[in-house]
Amino acid sequence: MSSVSCIKPRLTPREIVYFQALLPRFPLSTNDLNYYRNKVKGYEGECFFDNLLLKNFSTQGYLVPYLNFEQNNTSCQIDTLLITQQKIYLFEVKNFEGEHYIEGGNWCLRASNKTITNPVHQMQRAETLLRQLLKPLRLDIQIESYVVFVNPEFTLYHAPFDLPVILPTQLNRFMKTLSHQTSTLYNSHRKLAEFLLDNHLDDPESRRKVKYDYENLKKGAICSKCSSFDVVVGYHKTICDYCGHSQANEENLLEAIKAFKLLFPEKRVTINNINEWSNSEHSTKTIRRVLKNNFELVNLGRYSYYV
Ligand SMILES: [Zn+2]
Repeated sequence: MSSVSCIKPRLTPREIVYFQALLPRFPLSTNDLNYYRNKVKGYEGECFFDNLLLKNFSTQGYLVPYLNFEQNNTSCQIDTLLITQQKIYLFEVKNFEGEHYIEGGNWCLRASNKTITNPVHQMQRAETLLRQLLKPLRLDIQIESYVVFVNPEFTLYHAPFDLPVILPTQLNRFMKTLSHQTSTLYNSHRKLAEFLLDNHLDDPESRRKVKYDYENLKKGAICSKCSSFDVVVGYHKTICDYCGHSQANEENLLEAIKAFKLLFPEKRVTINNINEWSNSEHSTKTIRRVLKNNFELVNLGRYSYYV
């Protein structure tokens, strides 16, 4: 191994997938929409930082993008970990914009003077829980933690010099320092990475529940690229009149079924229900085939459904 390797892919958070399924079909309130946009922004910041690490860290290392574990019945999410020979770097990645200041230990947004969750406390809490998680391994490895601000539009006033943060103007230098390190990974590092993966839990369900019901959701085939309902389902392909995106019918329908399952976990996946969900735009033949090829049939005669 000559450079940093990602031990698992960073998946789109389930909460974002949930909102993406809902968004084209239901008018979200401004609050819900802002919440969703913040989540997307945070996720984009994390992906951006992953790429920086992968590009700059040329020696041996393991990148752990997003870790979700439980310790002492407390759930803990870590944005990014980098395992090197000497150290584990823990990064709390923030894609904040605008002017912020610290006053009396509180973090505030200058435009509104509102207090925000102290990201350093968040990071320290994660570090403590990670230390406890790793204790049984008796590793001789340091943990070094930072809050990383990746957005160039972010400014922080009154920050003490010793605050464990990396500001946008310090990001390049930090990457340079990292890239000058030499690191050789051994079996113990691989075991550590495997231990973390074993302890990683599935992404939690959406924490924010939006109130909607089946009747009020718009039904029909949608474009998987721009979410427009303005699509024509042809013999083989679904083509978007709005953006021109073309997709195999099976693929388009499979995405619609996944959205149905995500938004209505209590509803049964049947040919009739999916036909209604896609507003009869996909043929029953396609629905039958996609269900058969991608899901398991629970055969109850006329009450059969797929899981
Ligand atoms: Zn489109």
